[in-house]
Amino acid sequence: MFVLAVALPAMTLAGTGIWLTLRVAHQVEAESARYNAYLAEKVIESFERELVDQVRGALAGAEAVSRTGGTVDQIRAALATRARLFEAPQFVPLEELEGYSLVTVDGQLLIYGDDPSGHRDHPFAAMLINGADGYAIGAGGWWFNPRAFLASNLRTVVIDRLPSSPRMYGGLESTRHLAITVADEDGHEVAHVREATSRQTERTVSMTGPFEGFQVRVSATDTSPVAFAHRLVVIEVAFIGLLAIVMLGATFVGARYILRQIELVNAKSSFVSNVTHELKTPVTVIKLAVETLELGRVSSDAEREKYLRTITRESDRLAQLVDNILDFSRLEAGQRTIERAPVDMRDVVNGAMDSFRLRLEDAGFHYEVSLPDAVPKVLGDGRALQHCLLNLLDNAVKYSRDKKDVRVAVETRDGMVGLAVSDRGIGIAPEEQDRIFEKFARVESGLVHTVKGAGLGLSLVEMLVRAHHGRVEVASKPGEGSTFTILLPVWDEGRGSG
Ligand code: ADP
Repeated sequence: MFVLAVALPAMTLAGTGIWLTLRVAHQVEAESARYNAYLAEKVIESFERELVDQVRGALAGAEAVSRTGGTVDQIRAALATRARLFEAPQFVPLEELEGYSLVTVDGQLLIYGDDPSGHRDHPFAAMLINGADGYAIGAGGWWFNPRAFLASNLRTVVIDRLPSSPRMYGGLESTRHLAITVADEDGHEVAHVREATSRQTERTVSMTGPFEGFQVRVSATDTSPVAFAHRLVVIEVAFIGLLAIVMLGATFVGARYILRQIELVNAKSSFVSNVTHELKTPVTVIKLAVETLELGRVSSDAEREKYLRTITRESDRLAQLVDNILDFSRLEAGQRTIERAPVDMRDVVNGAMDSFRLRLEDAGFHYEVSLPDAVPKVLGDGRALQHCLLNLLDNAVKYSRDKKDVRVAVETRDGMVGLAVSDRGIGIAPEEQDRIFEKFARVESGLVHTVKGAGLGLSLVEMLVRAHHGRVEVASKPGEGSTFTILLPVWDEGRGSG
């Protein structure tokens, strides 16, 4: 619920941020594509103007001849002197102009067309020539190669003509970052100015008139504002995404932390009530036994012996419980230091059994202790290890029902000394077997519920054994019993370490 309450608005905000950024980027791209189409149109217009200018310039000689009343042959000769610029000159008398096309470029008439005889592959471009009386007598011009014209004039058109055109919107600033390519009808490049890096906003416009079949492509270069905007959008979207992930992560970690704290608070409160109960039971039993003895209600020595035994047994239990709580809080605070001395595990077992035997016998347990003749020593704290064993024994008693069997064994395996405590009690479900080592953890099943405990014993055993560089293993089957094994590294006398 908490995760959802934070994550949902965070995701919505991040999503909206990304959506807005993409929308702006889309607008910029659309605007840039529109401008590219506009520029392509302008390039085409400029090519036409360039052609008209060049034809008009080249015609000057022939026009002078015609205006002074020169003959057609003289006009043709004047045209031929300028043939260097174009392919071959031609003069078409007015009455033969039918079949050619006309286009006005900046108010001037450009006449163009293909060779009606089919001899030439290239088009003809011409302008009207006036005679001595001021009336047009025909069209003078040249056959020319449009591909070569486009290739040789692209740079002039783009660099000089376009920016200086008063009708050009945007001027030099806008065209400087655009790549302009002229291509033929198969799309093969004829010439280009600047390298195109992104095809995203590219626009292509087909040429008409004398340049029919060719096309002008305009696209963005690496330095164009749209390319810059694109990079910015990628960074921004990545940034927003990252921010969202960090927020989600923080929320998740925060939620986990809060849940853990709630769990701990719950566990601590049940811990207090469990511990109180555990302390109360032996105190009550001891008090009763002492009162009975005080009042002299016992008739025989055997009975007195029984009460004294009870007092010893219960005070041992009380001491173990208090030890558990003290050790636990010291270990948690990092104040519990582990002494390190060579320890014989058989001594640990014997010591623990001395104080625990009473409890086993009084609770009606059958027990077996199996110790080998020789065991390698381990390096550690004998009292702490004895404490661990007492906790395991205590559990074996608490969690056994009718099959009251406990076995304690010491064995050596894989360079470790193992201390195993087996019972034939209620067992632990596989999914609980890791959890039981956590502090305050108790199995929440009906059977265990009737047994009081603080949930500290195993976590204490685990902490102490880990401090000895060892580990605790559990093998258990529900309904059949459990074996807890403490494994400690063998003490290497030569090296003096465990
Ligand atoms: P406590 O016994 O005080 O509840 P422990 O840390 O010693 O706390 O044990 C944790 C839980 O592990 C117990 O509540 C019990 O459910 C389970 N457990 C421990 N030892 C045994 C055992 N020998 N047989 C069955 N269950 C066990």
